[in-house]
Amino acid sequence: MDKRTAAKTAAELREKLNKWADEYYTHDAPSVEDSVYDAAYRQLTEIENEYPEVITSDSPTQQVGDNTLPGFTKVVHEIPMLSLGDVFSKDELSGFINRLAETDSVPFEYNCELKIDGLAISLRYENGIFVQGSTRGNGQIGEDITENLKTIKSIPQKLNKPVTIEVRGECYMPKKSFVDLNDARQRDGQTPFANPRNAAAGSLRQLDPKETAKRKLSTFMYNVADYDDLETNTQSGLLEELKALGFETNPGYQVANNFDDVSSYIDKYQEKRDSLAYGIDGIVIKVNDLNLHRTLGATVKVPRWAIAFKFPPEEAETIVTDIEWTVGRTGVVTPTAVMNPVILAGTTVSRASLHNPDYLEEKDIRIGDTVKLHKAGDIIPEISNYVESKRLQDSEKYLIPTKCPSCGSELVHLDDEVALRCINPMCPAQLTEGLTHFASRNAMNIDGLGPKIIGQLFSKKLLTDVSGLYELNFEDLLTLDKFGEKSATNLLESINNSRQNSLERLLFGLGIRHVGAKAARLIAQKFKNIDEIIKADAETIAQIDTMGMIIADSVVTYFSMPESISLIEKLKSVGVNMDYLGVSEEELESEDSFFSGKKVVLTGKLETMTRGDASSWLTNHGAKVTSSVSKNTDLVIVGTDPGSKYDKAVKLDIPVWEESRFSDEMNQES
Ligand code: NAD
Repeated sequence: MDKRTAAKTAAELREKLNKWADEYYTHDAPSVEDSVYDAAYRQLTEIENEYPEVITSDSPTQQVGDNTLPGFTKVVHEIPMLSLGDVFSKDELSGFINRLAETDSVPFEYNCELKIDGLAISLRYENGIFVQGSTRGNGQIGEDITENLKTIKSIPQKLNKPVTIEVRGECYMPKKSFVDLNDARQRDGQTPFANPRNAAAGSLRQLDPKETAKRKLSTFMYNVADYDDLETNTQSGLLEELKALGFETNPGYQVANNFDDVSSYIDKYQEKRDSLAYGIDGIVIKVNDLNLHRTLGATVKVPRWAIAFKFPPEEAETIVTDIEWTVGRTGVVTPTAVMNPVILAGTTVSRASLHNPDYLEEKDIRIGDTVKLHKAGDIIPEISNYVESKRLQDSEKYLIPTKCPSCGSELVHLDDEVALRCINPMCPAQLTEGLTHFASRNAMNIDGLGPKIIGQLFSKKLLTDVSGLYELNFEDLLTLDKFGEKSATNLLESINNSRQNSLERLLFGLGIRHVGAKAARLIAQKFKNIDEIIKADAETIAQIDTMGMIIADSVVTYFSMPESISLIEKLKSVGVNMDYLGVSEEELESEDSFFSGKKVVLTGKLETMTRGDASSWLTNHGAKVTSSVSKNTDLVIVGTDPGSKYDKAVKLDIPVWEESRFSDEMNQES
């Protein structure tokens, strides 16, 4: 992203985030899920890290969120009430712990605490008597809610010792009270609160304390802002001292010595989370030594000695903003849902494959729909369904395109395929994909010729098909973005060298359906020259060991097209070798596919290819495709409704791949 785009995107994100924060903090009524807010916040942080000059003082990254409401007296926090930095995966957490460990040679202890889903409060006691309570507000100025806090049973009016102290902690609404409150609100025709935190905030900021009293709030205190008589020098000890003074503290804390201990604590509470009587939205990991808190200090917004690990949502909701269609090398046109970014199981997700038109029709996904997302097999984001109650009134059924998004020609279904295809051999999207394949490592192996450069070559009309590659000159290449004399010379040399490749590389590079690197080599070995292959009939080709009629037919069909013959003629005229030169042992080895020698089982309905296609591709790549799963099976590839073979594979602990993972591997290899 260049600087100008960064500034523009940052401004858009700031505006969006500040609007959401106002709905959330000031009105206790968020309009988007936390995971959507968190994903946008993260995007803004990344831009600001790359271009610090775009940071403005109203950026949500520079201030603690909440606003104060009119009607409440303001309280100045002499010691600011900060927020917490957050991480969404264990990888990120281990990065935080490693960075901390680098700052000190002494091994750290960490105090792990539950991150209570409530709102921060500050309580002041003079000579053991509760005198003032406030909200966090913007961290510097909060609201005086003393009278409301006095109605909460867990907040002592008088401490066990006559000390002067300011303590901080979380005010929350227990799950049962939250459910009861929302039921009552719905009965009264009021909008229910989105989560316990907003419910607690709304309840605490009532102008009438009697209203707050009805809401059954509770508290856990976890921090001391101002206290001269603290005896302990650890965070865990501090919790015990607060308890001894009469405060409610959360009993679930645990001291950890290293990342593994912290990680087990997270797992334990991720499991126990649902059985707790109050909501938690993560774990807070704090350096246990209070002296180190002072040494490490804080940024304008968060302490450096603590981090929140937010539980990654297993399911997230977001909005579909577009459905994009991409054309692959073989002309298959695939729909992808483009969505507002959302954090799902630890990663930011903004796209999910919709596989094919049938799948899209069956799910009835439309632009503007709010959808639920999950991660299939814990890796691939997938749309579970649209949320009916949130479908827009003017929503219209999505119409499957009939024309190729790249070249505009009519799209077709071949045979019984679910896939939709563009069959125009001159389609620019297919040509770009095709040339990327032609140049790839196992094909013509043209170093430095990636998809971005190829895209430019086509869009600048420097070529119209693969043969044009061999007519490019130095000046042509210098017109490409970020291309200097050196890169132009290197690329020309790679292209030139590829003229001498042995026939099987060219044959594979042509991208004939079903012809993988191995099949190409076997065909080239048998026929020795391209003209002999063009003349061959399917039966002769099928005589080659392991070949089969599917591949043979495909080769014959390819060379029966005049466009193919004309391409071969052009390639000949620009000096591309058309003979088999023999393959070195080294090349043979490098051609070895991942699937070579593996026993693979296919089960369920595949969406982007038939089982027959998948099977012949696998056989071509050296796999043995078998029909039943046993302990000798190396891999099971599953489509939809996989049935008992899938269950058996899971039981026997055999690797299971979803179709998309298999397609990715196919694309890399074929
Ligand atoms: P936060 O809630 O992510 O974390 C900081 C807070 O954690 C502290 O201020 C404290 O109140 C609380 N906490 C709970 N247990 C704690 C413990 N044991 N020790 C220390 N602190 C503990 O940060 P935030 O700034 O208060 O809120 C930001 C979050 O609010 C966002 O990440 C987002 O999830 C949510 N948000 C959502 C929207 C929306 O529109 N959905 C808008 C704004 C903010």
